[in-house]
Amino acid sequence: TEVAPLAQRFDGASIQRLPARAADAYKNQFGHVLVVGGDSGTGGAALMAAESAARAGAGLVSLATHPQHLVASLTRRPEVMAHPVISGQELEPLLEMPDVIAVGPGLGRAPWGEQLLARAGRADVPLVLDADALNILAGGRVLAGVRRHDWVLTPHVGEAARLLGCGTGDVLADPRAAAIAIQKKFSGVVVLKGAGTLIAHPSGVDLIKGGNPGMASGGMGDLLTGVIAALIGQHMTPLEAARLAVWLHGEAGDRAAADGQRGLLATDLLPHIRKLVD
Ligand code: AMP
Ligand code: MG
Repeated sequence: TEVAPLAQRFDGASIQRLPARAADAYKNQFGHVLVVGGDSGTGGAALMAAESAARAGAGLVSLATHPQHLVASLTRRPEVMAHPVISGQELEPLLEMPDVIAVGPGLGRAPWGEQLLARAGRADVPLVLDADALNILAGGRVLAGVRRHDWVLTPHVGEAARLLGCGTGDVLADPRAAAIAIQKKFSGVVVLKGAGTLIAHPSGVDLIKGGNPGMASGGMGDLLTGVIAALIGQHMTPLEAARLAVWLHGEAGDRAAADGQRGLLATDLLPHIRKLVD
């Protein structure tokens, strides 16, 4: 008799990649990613997610962020179309353009972030929810009861505990059960990040190893969010995108750590993400 494995292990050899681009390819074939985030004081997270989406091959990237970050965004990455938003209402017209939306990096938990998540979370395209989008979701007042098969939730252990209303100790004691419980509660694909990342989906749990302790620094998760969104925009399913993005991200971190783990910065991964995604 066969015993079902606890988690199916995926690595670079078993993960589906993107096809080569046709010689006559056009940008609208590779998805328009909208990143929503970056409240006053936390603009870098949203910008890093947008930049990583661009480096993972998105055809177009837009960023909806606090007006405070507009100049910095355009200066750092003129390829990213940065839109200042001061309310959920201002986000509304921007939700018509993208093929996929990533919400959460630097979003904060103030009314600004709540309003943006409330609107973006009901958009008619696949979503990636990360960081404070997950913390707001966990609060239960915004997107109450919403379950979507076409969203990817990317909690680290702390965010996972909030989503379940338990302690981080409970998540750490059985991360696989926690990932499954979050998937059952919210549906979709759940990426429980850590040293070894679990992906819970309707038909099982995957384990992807890779990455290193140098990646325990700010901004690393924001990059992963951008990569997942970019891959969905390039016609992967949310599950395929989550698998490839998690592997790419860990591998990029390992390659970047050739120069040292301590002091590794999230943006150091970007050139490696670009090489690995091709
Ligand atoms: P976040 O906590 O949202 O910034 O996400 C951190 C990202 O870096 C996740 O994708 C983690 O899997 C990864 N990461 C952080 N620490 C480690 C580690 N010690 N080993 C491997 N990956 C890590
Ligand atoms: Mg994070």
